[in-house]
Amino acid sequence: MECKQEENKKDCPCTYPCEKKGICCECIKYHRERNELPACYFDKDTEKTYDRSIKRFVQENQT
Ligand code: SF4
Repeated sequence: MECKQEENKKDCPCTYPCEKKGICCECIKYHRERNELPACYFDKDTEKTYDRSIKRFVQENQT
């Protein structure tokens, strides 16, 4: 299976300059190892803070 990096990049909302952009398997692995979530889990404003913590995700999604 070929990596769809270029195709994935079109949907990637991450604003951090990063070589993993579009390589979703590496992106998830990287953040998972740090107890975090990738940029695409956060809304636009939160994404720009680069806080990828699960705590922030839960705060953002509480009703
Ligand atoms: S979410 Fe993290 S690993 Fe993924 S492209 Fe952005 S900075 Fe890189």
